[in-house]
Amino acid sequence: MTEPDRGPSVPGRGAGRSLVLAMIAVGVAASACGAGPSPSSPPLPSAIQPTAARPAAPASGSPASSRATGRSGHGADPGRLAPARSASSLAGKIVGIDPGHNGGNFADASYIGHQVWNGREWEACDTTGTETDGGYTEAQFNLGVARYLRADLRRAGATVVMTRTSNDGVGPCIDRRSEIINAAHANVAVDVHADSGPAWGRGFTILEPVADGPNDAVIAASARLGSDVRQAFLADAPAMPESTYIGNQGIMVRDDLAGLNLTTVPKILVECGNMRNATDAQMLVSPAFQRLVARTLAAAIIAFLGR
Ligand code: ZN
Repeated sequence: MTEPDRGPSVPGRGAGRSLVLAMIAVGVAASACGAGPSPSSPPLPSAIQPTAARPAAPASGSPASSRATGRSGHGADPGRLAPARSASSLAGKIVGIDPGHNGGNFADASYIGHQVWNGREWEACDTTGTETDGGYTEAQFNLGVARYLRADLRRAGATVVMTRTSNDGVGPCIDRRSEIINAAHANVAVDVHADSGPAWGRGFTILEPVADGPNDAVIAASARLGSDVRQAFLADAPAMPESTYIGNQGIMVRDDLAGLNLTTVPKILVECGNMRNATDAQMLVSPAFQRLVARTLAAAIIAFLGR
């Protein structure tokens, strides 16, 4: 969950890449991470079960993708999403993962509430995040995805930097999370969240930065990353639609988030679904869906870094 949105939304664009997903799928089957949530959730619809390679995604150049965006970075790019070259395609690359919030935030309101500079204004150090009606917290979901994603990326040869590795701590504050990833000189980074939208609303949303000084050099690259992540969701996790309640085709720009305002590396924040919607919530609590989201994000990162 993030603060209420503002600013214009922009459409993404599409392309396909099945080989990347096939490589990631093989990696997941051999996962040695073992750090994810216990497999105790109800079975998922077949449409969201992890699978091997899929057919290529819809081609780019849809009518929607030609709408004016008001900024660069979302134009035609027929050479995007090249297949992964090998299982070590991320060798030498550094990837940052920020699993939003933390399980201990619920117990330390005074610390979490202290003000930090987010690049444009003062705001709270962090929040508790949202949760499903059943009490499954966003903090737990975020870390589950992050752990699976870390395993996938390491298997592809990347060095992974995470802003937290457990769900029983407090913070770190949102400005510190950006500092950790910036200091690591990550080639790319993803902030993992799930939203607190209206109960009737469904779907994922990708939040992209707005130029504010510190992040000026990575605006266009972040937009390309956002497009890659959007296309990966559409291709690999079709049971989770683009948001039906915010953004434009699953993408929106935000100028009020420290993670995006302060980044000096290409980064997006992904709301992987709406925890306040019953259908989305059933998916989000599932370890199988969390693995699928991780694989989807890994495929997008490999595509982004491979061009
Ligand atoms: Zn959140």
